Amino acid sequence: MVERVLIDVTGLVQGVGFRPYVYSLATLLNLRGSVQNIGGHLAIDLEGEHTAVDAFLHALVEDPPSLASIRAVETRRVCPANHRQFQIRTSTGALAREVHISPDIATCERCLAELFDPNDRRHRHPFISCTKCGPRYSIIVGVPFDRPRTTMGRFAMCEECLAEFANPRNRRFHAQTIACWRCGPTLVARDRAVAHAGGQDALTMAVNTLCAGGIVAVKGLGGFHLACDATNEDAVRELRLRKHRHAKPFAMMLDEPHARSVFADDTAALAALLTRERPIVLLPREAWVSAGAPDIAESVAPGCPSVGLMLPYTPVHHLLLHDIGRPLVMTSGNISDEPMAFKDEEALGQFGAVADIFLMHDREIQTRCDDSVVRIHAGKPALVRRARGFAPSAITLEEEAPTPVLGVGAHLKNTFCLIAGRHAYMSPHIGDLDRVETYRALGDGVSQAARLFGVEPTVVAHDLHPDYLSTRVASELPAARRLGVQHHHAHVLSCIAEHSLQRPVIGVAFDGAGLGTDGAIWGGEFLFVDGVACERLAHLAYVPLAGGDLVAREPWRMAVAHLTAAFGDGLGPMGAVLRQRITPTLWNGVRRLVARGMGTPTSSVGRLFDALASLLGLRDRAEYEGQAAMELESIASVESARDYVFDVNTTLPVWAIQSAPVIRAISADLAGDIPRAQIACGFHRALGTMVADVASRIAAHTGVRDVVLTGGVFQNAMLTNCAAQALEAAGLTVFLHERVPCNDGGLSLGQALFAARTARAERQLEERVACA
Ligand code: ZN
Ligand code: ZN
Ligand code: FE
Repeated sequence: MVERVLIDVTGLVQGVGFRPYVYSLATLLNLRGSVQNIGGHLAIDLEGEHTAVDAFLHALVEDPPSLASIRAVETRRVCPANHRQFQIRTSTGALAREVHISPDIATCERCLAELFDPNDRRHRHPFISCTKCGPRYSIIVGVPFDRPRTTMGRFAMCEECLAEFANPRNRRFHAQTIACWRCGPTLVARDRAVAHAGGQDALTMAVNTLCAGGIVAVKGLGGFHLACDATNEDAVRELRLRKHRHAKPFAMMLDEPHARSVFADDTAALAALLTRERPIVLLPREAWVSAGAPDIAESVAPGCPSVGLMLPYTPVHHLLLHDIGRPLVMTSGNISDEPMAFKDEEALGQFGAVADIFLMHDREIQTRCDDSVVRIHAGKPALVRRARGFAPSAITLEEEAPTPVLGVGAHLKNTFCLIAGRHAYMSPHIGDLDRVETYRALGDGVSQAARLFGVEPTVVAHDLHPDYLSTRVASELPAARRLGVQHHHAHVLSCIAEHSLQRPVIGVAFDGAGLGTDGAIWGGEFLFVDGVACERLAHLAYVPLAGGDLVAREPWRMAVAHLTAAFGDGLGPMGAVLRQRITPTLWNGVRRLVARGMGTPTSSVGRLFDALASLLGLRDRAEYEGQAAMELESIASVESARDYVFDVNTTLPVWAIQSAPVIRAISADLAGDIPRAQIACGFHRALGTMVADVASRIAAHTGVRDVVLTGGVFQNAMLTNCAAQALEAAGLTVFLHERVPCNDGGLSLGQALFAARTARAERQLEERVACA
């Protein structure tokens, strides 16, 4: 019996080879009708034998294209229309109910094989791609994802490519991004003023420059990288000099066979490197060294316990790595901390004096997208920076926003997050908002996303800090309502959103800094979060922030503050040691500041780590936030640890966690020449035990047993492990971040959830009033 069904498929179904898949399946089953992208979803009109239709639906749900992620399939039976054949119909931009945009996808196995096959017509073609791989998000101009609405639009397919595009039996059937030597974009090697070589010669020139120790600006998927030979110390040093970047580690790229041999015994590292998203993976330096890998120049990650590695993810990268045969430094193309350059003119302007040559092409990058960064936690990758490969995939929520809402992030590691319906779209990493460029990038990103996803946010949530540039961006948006959300409350909500938690939770938010509701700088918080309500139940006892913004870069200042809190003006046995390392005027100034109780009070655990790193003599001055804490973690030995105990003062309405006893014990140990590795480990364990202790007491009071660990401090794997184990031993359930970073890069999701929950609560109230 012939029947006809209309099928509506929502989810990530565009730019992932879904229409060709549907076509093949339908023709295989002798079904007639059509498939079409409409706005952000896929509409299938199917007619044929009942059993064939059933088989089709079964296959659609059970075995969809590997890159697709189906959210819902709706079917509706209608009168047969006597379709004669099955066809792919032109997409329409009809207003999307739900838009999903595929992230950019690393070159697939089959394209890679063709790339290096001398008999293939795309042998060494720098823009090889198919339905399963290639640029997506970074080139999309409008939805749905079809070539004319991407920056590939200006490259008309040649006859051969067109034949593949139109052939249902070809793996490039309806692949929107395909190209070849005859019709695709062209590679060019140039300096600021003129082009020197094109095509294969351009690549050769880049390879020669790199081999000779030069610096090449390479145009990638979502922006430019600055590349140099990672085994050449002089080259790496020169890059640091020209880029004005002194200490922050550079990421490296090495090819897959090489990575497979280096990390043959480290399955977690290899798996993380090989994940589809091809992120930068932070790996311990010794893993690299002990594997007998080629000597990496010291300046790649000077004094840093870990190195960031990634595999090639575009054909250009594959060709470069293949030809040069050694790892390359591949660092984001920017000067210091500006956002990565992604427009040709911008890069040529910025790197004229940095790069010896530019390896670029004429396919425009529409949207900037930096590399993602993961670290390995408990054998699994955990995101530190969410960008290429992940953004803008939606995070699906259990709860629905009644109106589109936006969270604009905080200050550091800024991202924004748009929630429409049950989907949270997070922007790729934008950067620290202390420059006009990042501020602009946030504003532009928000308007572009609103246009792409077809939603105008009506409620905008921002940080409480009035001076953050993100707060200013929020004030400039044409939203109906703006809501300030306390920083750590937003951190907790971010983790709640990831795990779709509907019940109240105990939120443990440890980070560097966030403005509290009392005007202090918070960062060691135990919050009780229920819906949109948040109550602060405990925090690290306040010490003065000795020097405002300077503090994050000068850990010794916090050592003075914590020593004063622990010992009074005498500073204990370590005061004199510390003093020797600081110039007298500075020292006296900070002492006075602290003694007079000047400086904003802070409960920051990040700053407590800084204080410890300075006390242990690891670092008095940091090049970037978190550097001192990372070093403290890296020296901590698990062999044997000292025992330290935080004191919790529960007589106060909000409990104060005293670090003074820990500081006193550590000072005594240092004076007694106890190895620093044991002290550092003991400190981590003491913090973990304290987290479980305080959370257990809160659980006993409230009956709530779900605990969320959030905030940048939990990038520290040792602390996270200690805390999670202790909490579980106390019978509590622990939730950690998985798909968004625990640092401020994940904050916008929590802000947006706050906006969505507020809007929903108000909507419900209105309805109740209307009923009454
Ligand atoms: Zn491919
Ligand atoms: Zn072609
Ligand atoms: Fe934070």
